[in-house]
Amino acid sequence: MKAILIVGDGMADRPLAELNSKTPLEAATKPSLNLLAEKGVCGIMDVIAPGIPPGSDVAHLALLGYDAEKVYSGRGAFEAIGFGVEVLPNDVAFRCNFATVDSKLKVIDRRAGRIATIDAARLAEEFKEVTLQGHEDVQIIFQNTIQHRAILLLRGVHLSTMVSGSDPYKVGKKVLEVRPLDGAAEAEKTAQILNELTYYFHEVLKSHPLNIEREMAGLLPANIVLCRGAGKLPDLAPLPLQYGITAVAISAMPLVKGVCKAAGMKLINVSGATGTYDTNVLAKANAAIKALRSYDFVFVHVKAPDIASHDGRVDEKVRMIEKIDQLVEYITRNVDLSKTYIAVTADHTTSSYTKEHEGDPVPVVIYGPEVRTDDIEEFTERSCARGGLGRIRGKDLLPILMNLLGKTKKFGA
Ligand code: ZN
Ligand code: ZN
Repeated sequence: MKAILIVGDGMADRPLAELNSKTPLEAATKPSLNLLAEKGVCGIMDVIAPGIPPGSDVAHLALLGYDAEKVYSGRGAFEAIGFGVEVLPNDVAFRCNFATVDSKLKVIDRRAGRIATIDAARLAEEFKEVTLQGHEDVQIIFQNTIQHRAILLLRGVHLSTMVSGSDPYKVGKKVLEVRPLDGAAEAEKTAQILNELTYYFHEVLKSHPLNIEREMAGLLPANIVLCRGAGKLPDLAPLPLQYGITAVAISAMPLVKGVCKAAGMKLINVSGATGTYDTNVLAKANAAIKALRSYDFVFVHVKAPDIASHDGRVDEKVRMIEKIDQLVEYITRNVDLSKTYIAVTADHTTSSYTKEHEGDPVPVVIYGPEVRTDDIEEFTERSCARGGLGRIRGKDLLPILMNLLGKTKKFGA
C-alpha cells in the first residue's frame, strides 16, 4: 500500500459575498475532488487547534504528524535547508530581505523594488566571506534566494535565537536595533553581531556599483539587509524511521521543502512547478505518479491558492482549485487505485476577504481501498464537516494514513 497527500496551500476559505456566500471550494467546478469525497471518507481538521491561524511552517509540521507547538523553533532554518543551504544543529538562522532605506535608515521599500534574483545574487557575492572584528569565532553565511529574499546563518559557539530582528516591517520606520530577548550572554552577543552586521551590510551596499546603476536607471537601490525570525533547525524524528517508510515531497516553496527535508523526506524538483498561478500542475501530478513507483508516501504541495487569497483574487483562487482538481484527476487515472490511498486537504484556511490565514478548520478527504466511506459527495468546507472522519487535528492525519498503510505500531499489549 502507498499513500499520496495533496495539500492546496490556504485552499479553505470562508463564504464570500462575490461568490453568493459560497466558498471558493464550493464555487469551483471540481468533479475529481468531489469523486474522492463521494468514494472516500471526509472530515474537517483543526491544523493546530480550533481558532488558531497557523503559519505554513507549523501547519506543515502538523500535517507531517509532529506536535508543532513542541518542536517549532522558527522559520529561517526551514527556508535555508529548503533552498539547499546546509544548516548545522546549532546554527542560528534568519530570514532576510534586501531593502531600501534613506540616509537616516528609514525604510523606503522593504523589498528593494522587488529586486531581480540575478541582481540580488550579485550583491550577495559581497558577503560570501564576512568576518566581524572581535567576532572571528562566528562564521557568517549569507545566501540570497528568490528576488529580495535571503538567508543568514550565524555559525559558532555561544549564540542564541533569543534576539529580535532589524526589520521594522513598515515603510517610513527606522531600521530596528536588534535586542536580546533574555538576559543570557549568548543573546547579548548574537544581538551585537547582528547590529554590527546590519551596519556592515549598509556600508557595503550603499556604494555598490550595482546600486549606483540601479539609481541611474530610476530603480530603488538595495542598500540594506533586514533580518527577522531567528530560529534553529528542530530535531525531528525522521518519518522514514518512525514508520519504516520511504517518503518524498514535491513543492516549489523553499519553506515547505525545508519542513519536509527536516522530516527526513527526499525532495523532487519539478520543472514547471513555480509556486505561483502559472504552476504546471500536470507536471507535478506526473512526477507524483513516477515517485509512487519507488516511494511509499508522496507529498504534493500547491502554493497558489494561498497567494490568491492574500491578493484578494477570488477568481484566481477558484481557478487554482480547478487546477488542483486536474492534478487529482491525472493522479486517479494513473495510479493503481487498489493499492493507493489519496488524501487531499489544506494547510490552513486563508480568507480571501481578510487576506489572512484564519483559524477555521480545513476539509480533508481520504480515498482508498479500506476506508469507511460516508455519505459526503462534495469536497467543501461545509459538507466535509458532516463526514465520517469527524473533526481531527492536523497532527492526527499522518498517523491515520500510516495506519491505513499498515505502518503504525500497536499501543499497549
Ligand atoms: Zn500555507
Ligand atoms: Zn499564506
